[in-house]
Amino acid sequence: MTDLSRERAVALDAADPLVSLRDAFVVDDPELIYLDGNSLGRLPKATADRIAQVVRDEWGAGLIRSWRHWVDLPSRAGDLIGSTLLGAAAGQVVVSDSTTVNLYKLAAAALDARPDRSVIITDDDNFPTDRYVLQGLAAQRGAELRVVHTDIDDGLDPDLLRDVVDENTALVSLSHVAYRSGALLDMAAVNAIVHDAGALVLWDLCHSAGSVPVELDASGADLAVGCTYKYLNGGPGSPAFLYVRDELQAALRQPIWGWFGQRDQFAMGPSYDPVPGIDRYLAGTPAVVGIAAVEEGVRVLAEAGIDRLQAKGIALTDYVIELAGAWLPGFDLATPADPRRRGSHVSLRHPDAWRITQALVEAKVIPDYRTPDRLRLGPAPVSTGFTDVWDGLSRLRQIMADRSYERFSGEPARVT
Ligand SMILES: *Cc1c(COP(=O)(O)O)cnc(C)c1O
Repeated sequence: MTDLSRERAVALDAADPLVSLRDAFVVDDPELIYLDGNSLGRLPKATADRIAQVVRDEWGAGLIRSWRHWVDLPSRAGDLIGSTLLGAAAGQVVVSDSTTVNLYKLAAAALDARPDRSVIITDDDNFPTDRYVLQGLAAQRGAELRVVHTDIDDGLDPDLLRDVVDENTALVSLSHVAYRSGALLDMAAVNAIVHDAGALVLWDLCHSAGSVPVELDASGADLAVGCTYKYLNGGPGSPAFLYVRDELQAALRQPIWGWFGQRDQFAMGPSYDPVPGIDRYLAGTPAVVGIAAVEEGVRVLAEAGIDRLQAKGIALTDYVIELAGAWLPGFDLATPADPRRRGSHVSLRHPDAWRITQALVEAKVIPDYRTPDRLRLGPAPVSTGFTDVWDGLSRLRQIMADRSYERFSGEPARVT
């Protein structure tokens, strides 16, 4: 019989090789169970000190002289993310702008690189900002946006993709791990389907960076973007990353012709002539304080190692599924049950999911609510313990037993 006792959770924590890294994070309230590290990662202790140092010493004392080393920060942080988490050799990743803006830059660059093709492909379960950016690009250019249907709990079926990609396809843009269900796509298989048709592929890695190994170089990916404030713990609104495969860098040109991509930038020359390397995908002055925080967040993950993070993510999400199966009969699993087919979060479906989410927050358990009727639980592998999962789900079990969620309104809030 399965052991559902809290003692087992304590024993699993004691055997966890990453347990000591939980001390790398600020824990303000030990009673609070944080199951939303995939929306906003926790604050690493080192980040508060680093930001104070950047602000006080580098800005306050160094003033403009600090640009001598700040200027390398976007590519230094990019190489750290690329080499430790994304399977990308140096010189292919930079940190800049937001995921939304980077997606626009790279999607536009890809469309310009295939001028005789007019179709963009994505899926109907892709993250909203991705779908809107692609809709906008299609509208601006008179291109066709083809939208593949995806099962919102099980993820995209690559065979459906194969059926719609053709010789008129310029770009396929997909999320590697689905934001709602956590379903994980086979990157190499999708890259092969897209390349067979002569198109380019652009990946959104927001929910995979830091949760599962990503093999951008080895799988043959062309382009990728992703957030740093989720599993990478860069802080609210921290700048995003982008990847362009080195063979494509000099040939593709992004639509924002900014001076940070310019050859011999401080010659202040008359017309745009971008550098051949990854810096040509920068636009304007980088957000130095934000990128410094990204470096600190990624350093903690680098210390853990992505293979151990994935193993822990699987163990934690398996544990959520096991406890939910035993304790929460009114919930259905809305995530692939096979751990090789998901990232590090789990969604549970319940008709009262929004009211239950509010009751959980009152009981000091922080999940996410996602439409329609999904309770999303993201136990970030680097900062969440098995006892956190046990405590969080036993509070949820209590809320269901005493029906305390019925006191809450079903009206949606501005931010869920
Ligand atoms: C969180 C998330 C985003 C957010 O993009 P921003 O530009 O940072 O607001 C984009 N795509 C996916 C898949 C996400 O999960």
